Amino acid sequence: MSTIFSRWFRGSHLLKFRILAVGCLGLSMLYNMNLGYADASRVDADSSSQGKPKVVVIIDDFGNGQKGTEEMFQMPVKLTVAIMPFLPTSHRDAELAHKRGYDVIVHMPMEAKTGKSNWLGPGAITSDLSDSEVRKKVEAAIDDIPYAIGMNNHMGSKITGDKRIMSIVLAICEERGLFFVDSKTNYHSIVGQLAIQKGMPPVTNHIFLDDAHTTSHISKQLQEVELYATKNRYCVTIGHVSAAGKKTAETLRTRIPQMQSSVEFVGISDLVREEWGWNPPPMLPSNNR
Ligand SMILES: [Zn+2]
Repeated sequence: MSTIFSRWFRGSHLLKFRILAVGCLGLSMLYNMNLGYADASRVDADSSSQGKPKVVVIIDDFGNGQKGTEEMFQMPVKLTVAIMPFLPTSHRDAELAHKRGYDVIVHMPMEAKTGKSNWLGPGAITSDLSDSEVRKKVEAAIDDIPYAIGMNNHMGSKITGDKRIMSIVLAICEERGLFFVDSKTNYHSIVGQLAIQKGMPPVTNHIFLDDAHTTSHISKQLQEVELYATKNRYCVTIGHVSAAGKKTAETLRTRIPQMQSSVEFVGISDLVREEWGWNPPPMLPSNNR
């Protein structure tokens, strides 16, 4: 996975974020024109699919106007959008997702085992940070993403194996009523084990949809998702808005109606509530505690 993110961030490092911020107003007007449907329509649960295996589709890397963003907001089922903090479209994407009835989670940038730190994006957690610096960054990220009900990791193959840092991250998530979804960029991640110890949902990604940028691969991965959900009652899968984001959106849109005969598409909030009884009190901004 780190290769994909590396490629993405080579073209989207901090300087570019500043340039994008300047163009934010114009982009925002464009989105308002293109995404008028977000006000008009809202995805609802399909009452006919009760009892079917559940599929959660998380789409990572929102917040920076990546390719496929617009198409993802037109998906006919409830998606979970993972939005990176402090980027030009972070707030707008959260608002649109909320209006559309999608779940919103914070896509927290975390240091990988390989790659440069400026590929991570602003506000990233790196292994050189002190306990209090980690806390400050995680709280600031949560405060930056309206409607967030959970968090997952952007990159993070190094940090998700770091017990000191992940203990702090999970403690803050718990305080704020958020669960943490392990994106599984590290096979040796300790996040699931820590979540179980804290009585939080040990929810994890099972299958990456678009780790290869071809329609045939994405389609094959969706077949795997359907199979996994059928065998295990549910499946969490992660795709991206990215260079291949339009392909991911197009393939999803084509396959969803076929898949709905055997699975139900739900948000991550529905899964953690039904599987782990996760029903936390409403979240407050950290400056409001
Ligand atoms: Zn990411």
